[in-house]
Amino acid sequence: MTESIPRDALGRPLRDLRLSVIEACNFRCPYCMPADRIGDDHGMDAAARLSFDEIETLVRGFVQLGVRKLRLTGGEPLLRKRLPELVRRLAAIDGLEDLALTTNGSLLAAHAQALRDAGLRRITVSLDTLDPALFRDLSGGRGDLAGVLSGIAAAKAAGFAPIKLNCVLQRGVNEDGIVALATYAREHGHVLRFIEYMDVGTCNGWSRERVVPSIEVRDRLHAHWPLQPLDPNYRGEVAARHAYVDGAGEVGFVSSVSAPFCGDCHRARVSADGQLYTCLFAGAGHALRSLLVQGEDALASHVASLWEQRTDRYSETRRLEAGSEGGASRRHVEMYLIGG
Ligand code: SAM
Ligand code: SF4
Ligand code: SF4
Repeated sequence: MTESIPRDALGRPLRDLRLSVIEACNFRCPYCMPADRIGDDHGMDAAARLSFDEIETLVRGFVQLGVRKLRLTGGEPLLRKRLPELVRRLAAIDGLEDLALTTNGSLLAAHAQALRDAGLRRITVSLDTLDPALFRDLSGGRGDLAGVLSGIAAAKAAGFAPIKLNCVLQRGVNEDGIVALATYAREHGHVLRFIEYMDVGTCNGWSRERVVPSIEVRDRLHAHWPLQPLDPNYRGEVAARHAYVDGAGEVGFVSSVSAPFCGDCHRARVSADGQLYTCLFAGAGHALRSLLVQGEDALASHVASLWEQRTDRYSETRRLEAGSEGGASRRHVEMYLIGG
């Protein structure tokens, strides 16, 4: 058993793990997996994905290092077969305090109850617009808004509350839907979070002009329903939370472009094939799979030594280099491999 909690080269502990259970997705959101760049045959062999045994060993190892929060993601995590069985195994791990899932919601209606029964505590659903035609476009022609809304309703009925909704805004694309999304979230008791469009990956053609800064979104909402800043739930929370003064819940803003938060970044990411990424914008991962046969202690001590060398602070550097076009000129891991 590893005894000390590692800190990286900038003094940051490891608290939070985001684990992709599958790289495949049934959507082709243009900011993540543009259909013209990522075909249907892009995925890896099922055998290349970590097995449930390997995932359990991996998570136990990370818990030894201080991880308390685990988020399952993808690709689209609900495409991973027998996901509730995996959730049940992970929910039973001592020391893991929070188990969450991020999904595009398309398959949620069928699976929400089984996930809840298996011990999943929190669900985040990505929802960029309430306009059915635009929704279809923003899923690369593959998604159906009504199906996602019924998935969200099924999750609520299964006992997930509050449900978080993630909206990535793009200038000139879905920014007109801000108030409609907030109205929907307020009426249903969901917590909406607006996420600035990021220069992740290499194929989405990101440019700064497409980013809608959080402050602008907050001002637009504030003009409809006055807002009041809330304290973070915990140190390192990425969303700046605001309460609606009229008592209709809260809304959050994730401002990784306009107000980076690398100083408090306690998060590691692992892809479905067991590569560790110490930053969302990392150019390369560290293969962990071969360590897993040696058990959780070996995994933990290897990850500790990798974490201690970590110096990542990409978003702060990007801001300092104003004018840089980020992903256009750099090598970054693709978002669908590490899940956000
Ligand atoms: N397929 C699931 C989903 O869409 O919720 C989970 C994986 S997806 C990569 C996780 C999150 O990343 C989603 O909320 C998505 O909107 C967000 N995302 C993808 N590309 C992004 C980008 N370029 N900038 C900001 N967020 C992005
Ligand atoms: Fe799929 Fe999620 Fe990426 Fe959209 S954001 S393409 S749903 S992985
Ligand atoms: Fe963390 Fe990297 Fe994002 Fe900075 S850019 S907050 S180090 S993931």
